[in-house]
Amino acid sequence: MNDTNTQKQQLFQAVEEMRPEIIGFLQRLIQIPSENPPGNYSEISTFLQEELTDLGFEVQVISVPDEMTSAAGLPTPRKNVIATLRGSGEGRNLIFNSHLDTVPAGDPEQWDYPPFSGMIANGRIYGRGATDSKGRLSAYIMAAVALARTSLTRNGDVIIAATCDEETGGILGAGYINQNGHVHGDMVIVEGYSNHIVRAMAGVLQLKITTDGIPAHAGYKWKGLNAVEKMAKVVQGLENLQKDLEQEPSSIPGMKYTTVNIGTIQGGTKVNVVPATCEIEVDFRVIPEHSLDQIYNRVVSLLEVLEKNDPAFKVKLTRITDFQTDPTITQEDSPLISELQQAVQEVTGHTLPVVGVLAQADTRWFIQNGIPGINYGPGTSENNIHGFNEYMEIEDLIQTTKILTVLAKNIVC
Ligand SMILES: [Zn+2]
Repeated sequence: MNDTNTQKQQLFQAVEEMRPEIIGFLQRLIQIPSENPPGNYSEISTFLQEELTDLGFEVQVISVPDEMTSAAGLPTPRKNVIATLRGSGEGRNLIFNSHLDTVPAGDPEQWDYPPFSGMIANGRIYGRGATDSKGRLSAYIMAAVALARTSLTRNGDVIIAATCDEETGGILGAGYINQNGHVHGDMVIVEGYSNHIVRAMAGVLQLKITTDGIPAHAGYKWKGLNAVEKMAKVVQGLENLQKDLEQEPSSIPGMKYTTVNIGTIQGGTKVNVVPATCEIEVDFRVIPEHSLDQIYNRVVSLLEVLEKNDPAFKVKLTRITDFQTDPTITQEDSPLISELQQAVQEVTGHTLPVVGVLAQADTRWFIQNGIPGINYGPGTSENNIHGFNEYMEIEDLIQTTKILTVLAKNIVC
């Protein structure tokens, strides 16, 4: 056997020997509820601080200042955990990022296994967060531990960034640690699925559009101006914009095209009154080939045409900035992708599709901080994420941990 093969066998063996430890670690994370809202981070951050210190990491708990959490209207403290497995300081540093919060479990009666039990059945571990994202966090941590238990010399660091509030946007989680200089590295693997690699994520543009009318009795309709009927023209215009955008597809598999979704509509007060106002909220998922401003300007132009053709048409357009995000992309020839593909190949014998998704994740905070990132981890979208009976396939967890161990070795050793 050549040297690389020996090393590979050493890594596989380390992970195989850790099988009960990996499963047990995920069960314990599931057993510490961290539902968001409200976001309970005290117990899980203390657990990680103790466990990861014992496992050989240098651990920092980064608490977000109270004035920031209260300014954001949040009732509980926000704590991020950064754990570093030190190398000699001469290599590349690899970050793994997963969030600590989960969506609420919902009605426990609807679960076949209690949501905070971590029960094992059918080769699966059940519970809220089993995949999203405690399963990922377990695989990332255990991959670093497996590497540490071999005799291989590490030149670079492996950094685990376990962060808050991904389920509510992440500004005080991955956003906070990136914007305040708490995390440094050459590349980041962020929570994702084991059946593909995500290298691009859509931007988010959200608009509020209001049409004004004049109220009147339905029996004297000519005295009023119907704001709902005016809005119908806007809706038609947005449908046409969607058709145009479908003709400008993304070159990245999985991303299709920029989507236009009219998510809410409100107008009128009573069936026999001519409505004085109508309001819609529109969500655009913007492919990397478009910018938010380009899409915004296309909406402005369509409203201008409507105004020009109808002197009675009165409209107001505002940007909702809460979730506004530019599209993010990591280049197809990034070493991060080729090295992950190589690790996948070494473990499974094949490679994975590289795609984009019309969603967002914490990856953007790292990319905005100059750190290239992709999404990859154990589990798939089949695992009842955000639903009842969320689970993690044990074999997927172990195999993905092996892949991540090989990746970490290839990057930091
Ligand atoms: Zn998640």
